[in-house]
Amino acid sequence: MAATHSFDVLVLGGGAAGLMCAIETGKRGQRTAVLEHADRLGKKILISGGGRCNFTNIHCGSENFLSSNPHFAKSALARYTPQDFIALVEKYRIPYHEKTLGQLFCDHSSRDILAMLEEECRIAGVRIFLNTTVQQVRRSGQFVVESSGAEFHAPALVVATGGLSIPKIGATSFGYDLARQFGLKIREPRPGLVPFVLSPEDQSRYSDLAGVSLDVMASVDGQAFREKMLVTHRGLSGPAILQISSYWESKKRLQIDLAPETNLTSAFLHANTPRSDANLRSEFRKILPSRFADRWLELHPPGSWTNPALANFEKHLHNWTITPAGTEGFEKAEVTAGGVDTDELSAKTMESRKVPGLYFIGEVVDVTGQLGGFNFQWAWASGAAAGRAI
Ligand SMILES: Cc1cc2nc3c(=O)[nH]c(=O)nc-3n(C[C@H](O)[C@H](O)[C@H](O)COP(=O)(O)OP(=O)(O)OC[C@H]3O[C@@H](n4cnc5c(N)ncnc54)[C@H](O)[C@@H]3O)c2cc1C
Repeated sequence: MAATHSFDVLVLGGGAAGLMCAIETGKRGQRTAVLEHADRLGKKILISGGGRCNFTNIHCGSENFLSSNPHFAKSALARYTPQDFIALVEKYRIPYHEKTLGQLFCDHSSRDILAMLEEECRIAGVRIFLNTTVQQVRRSGQFVVESSGAEFHAPALVVATGGLSIPKIGATSFGYDLARQFGLKIREPRPGLVPFVLSPEDQSRYSDLAGVSLDVMASVDGQAFREKMLVTHRGLSGPAILQISSYWESKKRLQIDLAPETNLTSAFLHANTPRSDANLRSEFRKILPSRFADRWLELHPPGSWTNPALANFEKHLHNWTITPAGTEGFEKAEVTAGGVDTDELSAKTMESRKVPGLYFIGEVVDVTGQLGGFNFQWAWASGAAAGRAI
């Protein structure tokens, strides 16, 4: 017969959000268990930020998140701030630095962050059950969670099983399935922070430039990001592209300004530089990587040397419009956009409005951060909001 365990709180998923929630409930004396189907906790924390975990962003505000309700994240973010997490990191003397744009990274390794969370769980008396795959959840007064070897009972159930990105390290649709089982609405999950795949035609034009990176402004529907773009073997990546991908929907056009705030033809219009292919190439190479500059001129030469033709040519450079064939999908996406509809949850506690005692936190909720430490800040903040409310 399967062993039966009784707790006050069951947290499904031992990632960033689940661990933070368990620490908070454990600290308040709630008997808490984390059930994790992998053989260790926090695998995504370990691979995050290129192994250095971009654990927060000091400029975090609700404008850094996508959600069908842009106000939903405000309350949790205000009550657990980047400073709160930094205080914890400093308490453990974990060395860190600001890389760029408020993004804080570990100096050494993401392992420091995971070790800190594991130690906080130990201090708070949280029980961890690894290799525990949940087979069924029922509610009969309490929540009953059946796994392969055991049955768990608790009055509060926290779903922190994350999104669909990177299935090979354990992502599952479990959280969405459970939400549906209890009658909660889901906003269709889609890959976010993901590279684009170009059409075969565009691939034949640009893919041999793989590895070339340039400063661009990428936009979709009025949302714009100015950062680096990287040409890949199948399409486009780099921070500007990853950022805009979260706002892109299938078949939408993407606008790319290849030389923001620069006028590459002004030398011909306002100075007396002779109008020739060689001079144009030399102006381009001052601003763009030479391989990209040469390819652009080869594919899109100015129609003529007249002023209107040069103006058109300049305009095209600042408004390169492409329709990506798609994205690299959940296999390569850093996050999953969409998820449990925020209308279903209390913004203060993350508790389901329909099912008392059932909570959803972290990436499984329809709140998605931009690139730069915002997704972890949401995981910490939503985890703390639920953990303090239970
Ligand atoms: C390559 C990569 C790099 C990233 N880098 C950063 C970064 O530097 N900064 C940043 O802010 N964000 C980063 N992110 C995003 C960030 O990792 C996630 O948004 C964050 O981990 C979400 O936390 P979570 O706890 O909601 O989900 P997760 O961290 O995904 O945790 C969910 C946990 O649930 C477990 N689980 C799933 N299904 C079940 C089940 N059925 N039963 C039991 N357990 C289950 C999983 O094994 C996992 O341990 C990165 C993501 C990726 C993929």
